[in-house]
Amino acid sequence: MRVASIDGRLAVKGPDGFVDVAVAGEGRFGPDPQDAFDRWEEFVAWAGDALASPEKLAPAARVEVTGDTVWGPPVPRPRQVFAIGLNYRDHVREARLEIPREPAVFTKFATSLTGHDRPVELPEGLVDWETELVVVIGRRCHRVTRESAWSHVAGLTVGQDLSERKRQLAGPAPQFSLGKSYPGFAPTGPEVVTPDEFADPDDLKLGCRLEGGEILQQSRTSHMIFDVPELLTRLSAVCPLLPGDLVFTGTPAGIGGARSPQKFLAPGDVLVTWIEGVGTLRTPMTAP
Ligand code: ZN
Repeated sequence: MRVASIDGRLAVKGPDGFVDVAVAGEGRFGPDPQDAFDRWEEFVAWAGDALASPEKLAPAARVEVTGDTVWGPPVPRPRQVFAIGLNYRDHVREARLEIPREPAVFTKFATSLTGHDRPVELPEGLVDWETELVVVIGRRCHRVTRESAWSHVAGLTVGQDLSERKRQLAGPAPQFSLGKSYPGFAPTGPEVVTPDEFADPDDLKLGCRLEGGEILQQSRTSHMIFDVPELLTRLSAVCPLLPGDLVFTGTPAGIGGARSPQKFLAPGDVLVTWIEGVGTLRTPMTAP
């Protein structure tokens, strides 16, 4: 199942395109995309039934996607956003650091979220790309085991952990959270895809490129040092993870700051980020 925020309203993808959840469900679920995650199991059961007989849905429930469609972040107001640094061996190597024994955890503040095809205004400084699989929590998750971890996941989406490197490394200790939280620095989407859509949700190809340019990053999520079950186990050992929370799971090698010469995003660049079976996220960069 695939859900999205289309023009600010929750939509679910059926055999003939997107369906507006509030209209199709006659108000059983509200139009706010965030609300579905609080009742995720009930929502998935309802949507499965509704999409099984699409001819019964009200014609007004059909959502037309055009060039003017606004794709919001599919999870617009998570209560917590976790992000993981140094979670791919090749990225640790390019950063010239040691393989971590514990996940390096920081946050991206929620005001940095944006959706697919939304322009990002580049602040002053050196803005870099970080392609990341983003996990959406679907069920409260406290002290979970590896074995049960995936059953707490609502779905997966494509993300970029955009990072301004000067701010990130300024100060007496690195400012990861601040340097990675300018407005628009957490593009996600276009859709959240449920784990049952994947033969192996722990092994997905991911990467990014500039539109019309070379591939910048290319890897597989199976190359993570701490995989999704391990991250949920270790995070939830400390913090309860709540429905609709996000976990940015780290980036593979190929960031601009580790290149020689270094390369950063410029106004006019369009960053295209993909994850196999999850989707393709487009992010145009604009001048300050
Ligand atoms: Zn990152």
